[in-house]
Amino acid sequence: MHRAGRVAYSLCRSARLAIHSAEGRAGAIGAAGTGSAAAAAAAAAAAAAAAAGRSETGQHRRSFQSLCGAAASHQPPPSHDDAYWLDKLTPEQFRICRQKGTERPFTGALYHNTKPGVYSCVCCGQMLFASSTKYDSGSGWPSFFDVLSKDAVNLSEDGAFGMRRIEVECSSCGSHLGHVFDDGPAPTRLRYCINSVSLGFRPSP
Ligand SMILES: [Zn+2]
Repeated sequence: MHRAGRVAYSLCRSARLAIHSAEGRAGAIGAAGTGSAAAAAAAAAAAAAAAAGRSETGQHRRSFQSLCGAAASHQPPPSHDDAYWLDKLTPEQFRICRQKGTERPFTGALYHNTKPGVYSCVCCGQMLFASSTKYDSGSGWPSFFDVLSKDAVNLSEDGAFGMRRIEVECSSCGSHLGHVFDDGPAPTRLRYCINSVSLGFRPSP
C-alpha cells in the first residue's frame, strides 16, 4: 500500500499541477490575445475550460476535505486484546488487520473477484462494501468507490512514512482495512484501497 499510496498521492498532485498549469496558460493567452478575434476566442475557451476544471476540482477537494474532517474527529472503537485476535486470525490476518500491515500488491484472493455480493470485515463480519462499487484501479489491491454505509468505517489521519493519508478501519472492531484516496471514479471520486486479507466475501444468493 505504501508504494501505491505514494503513487496515488503523486498522481493527485500531478492532476492539480496540470490544472494550475492550464489556468496559467489561459491567463497567458488572455494577456497576449490582443490581436485577432480567433486568439480572443481561444483565450475565452481556455479560460472557460480552466474555470470548469477549477470548479470541479474545488468540489472534489471540498468532498475530500470533509472526509479529512471526519477523520480528525473519530474515536477508535473498543476492541479485543491481541490474545483474542491471535487465536481467531491467521498470522497474516493479524499482521495486517491488527498491526496495520499491508499485503503485497496483486496477491489478494479477492483482488480479481467480480462476483456479485457483499464484502465484510474478516475480523468481525460487519458488512463493508457492495460488489457494485468495486472497480479495477490497477493498484494491486481491491478498490471501491464507496462504502456500503458511512457508519461501516471509521477514518483517521495517518502520517506514517512521511505521507498524509486517511486510514480506513472497521467501525465495529477497529480492524485496519486500508486507506482512502481522492483519485477514484465518479460519482464519489474516492478510492477505498483495501487489503484483500482484511475482507470476507458473501456472494449474492
Ligand atoms: Zn470488524
